[in-house]
Amino acid sequence: MTPPSISSSALDPTAVEDLRTRFRGSLLLPGDPGYEDSRTVWNAMIDRRPALIARCVGVADVIAGVNFAREHRITLTIKGGGHNISGLAVADGGMMLDMSPMKGVMVDSDARIGRAQAGCLLGDVDRETQIHGLAAVLGFVSNTGIAGLTLGGGFGYLTRQYGWTCDNVRAIELVTADGRLARASDDENADLFWGLRGGGGNFGVATRFDYDLYPVGPEIVGGAVAWSGEAAPEVLEMYRSMAAEAPRELALVAVLRLAPPAPWLPRKIHGKLIAAIFACYTGPVQEGEKLVEPIKAFGKPIGDVLQRRSYISQQSILDATQPKGRRYYWKSEYLPSLEAGLLEKCIEYAHQLRSPHSGVVLFPLGGALNEAADDLSPAGNRDAEYVLNVTASWDSAEDDEANVAWARAAWADMRRYSTGGTYINFLTEEEVDNRIHDAYGDHYERLVRVKTTWDPENLFRVNKNIPPTPSSEP
Ligand SMILES: Cc1cc2nc3c(=O)[nH]c(=O)nc-3n(C[C@H](O)[C@H](O)[C@H](O)COP(=O)(O)OP(=O)(O)OC[C@H]3O[C@@H](n4cnc5c(N)ncnc54)[C@H](O)[C@@H]3O)c2cc1C
Repeated sequence: MTPPSISSSALDPTAVEDLRTRFRGSLLLPGDPGYEDSRTVWNAMIDRRPALIARCVGVADVIAGVNFAREHRITLTIKGGGHNISGLAVADGGMMLDMSPMKGVMVDSDARIGRAQAGCLLGDVDRETQIHGLAAVLGFVSNTGIAGLTLGGGFGYLTRQYGWTCDNVRAIELVTADGRLARASDDENADLFWGLRGGGGNFGVATRFDYDLYPVGPEIVGGAVAWSGEAAPEVLEMYRSMAAEAPRELALVAVLRLAPPAPWLPRKIHGKLIAAIFACYTGPVQEGEKLVEPIKAFGKPIGDVLQRRSYISQQSILDATQPKGRRYYWKSEYLPSLEAGLLEKCIEYAHQLRSPHSGVVLFPLGGALNEAADDLSPAGNRDAEYVLNVTASWDSAEDDEANVAWARAAWADMRRYSTGGTYINFLTEEEVDNRIHDAYGDHYERLVRVKTTWDPENLFRVNKNIPPTPSSEP
């Protein structure tokens, strides 16, 4: 779906100046200092220019922004961390609410709740919760936004213990399409709460998330071990049996890619295919050291940084591999298991990578995620044990075609191993029109009902959109 656009000249300058008098944050027009930085998202394939950016510093700004977009019929987009591959946080000619100034985090360590404003990145929350030896269930890369991640489901190192990120949210505060501040939890607006836990930005602008916190770290056993590409078949076989047997406190991620110039990998291997396992054990550290020993002792590793470390460092260990500003294109499926044929295909396509930054990644799900009731939230997909992510990443536009073609070919060849489901948060823009049903399965119709109740005019439509049922009134 290409976001609809309006011309910036359609914006009434007097109305913008009037909004400015009521706005505590900053309103940015093209050419203003900060405009270019704010409009830029993680994926450099996305290059869009909103007519107006509203950088919100509080809930009142969000209410003013939503009312302004609705009253002036301006295409509204919402940017959390700006990390979504599809880039729907920003639209040409639209009004973008940039939530990034709203980064407050309050931790109630007795009640084990972390209250985080919607502009936080994952690292902002971890930093505050880890002071108390607590953590929320968040994702693997610290500069991802909490809002997009949580509203689409969310998974990370703690998922096998506790389920989706959205399974571990107690309440969400949001501004609805009519400009009201609402709270959604099991006790208040329960239908909305259900929809928000996977239904993305369809129902309003989230301003705060209340997360369940769990004791984690501050010291854990984590890091990575890497082997040369020739050992990939044996490494993936070892990964398959270790991941299947691993206790829930141990999350194992497998990566096939060309070796980056990282100090822990020998120079002579840089640019060559490697197989790596990233591990994180959040139980007692002595126990973790025993559990990861078979990984460290397997074959002939070419690099090993799997050791005691802080949970904070674990949460950012993959950051450098996914910098903002590269070109990205992903294909993804949920997997019910790791079949031998799938692992062979992972290796086959890893040998055909078209860029030094691309890779094939297997993330673990399973555990608690599988045990929750299927209809707990639309994130659902409770039959998923792993996520396959074919991640193409490159520097220059002239290489777009080759890299996109590589990812598509790998995915086309591997999707037969899928549960049939896919992660809403990993959909590229071209998939937004045809894979939303795959992501939600049987929950789709209920999502339409929630959408019809809370956003009947589809104000929030530049997203993985769930159109409301049209009104039958003339
Ligand atoms: C490098 C990288 C690593 C990732 N790792 C993981 C991972 O480990 N686990 C995981 O589950 N996912 C992961 N993801 C996917 C991630 O969950 C999604 O990209 C998510 O959408 C990012 O959220 P964001 O706020 O940064 O995105 P944005 O691009 O800012 O927002 C995405 C969409 O979310 C909606 N949205 C954002 N903020 C709000 C708000 N306040 N209220 C209502 N709607 C809003 C809007 O529709 C917006 O278009 C990763 C993505 C990247 C790029």
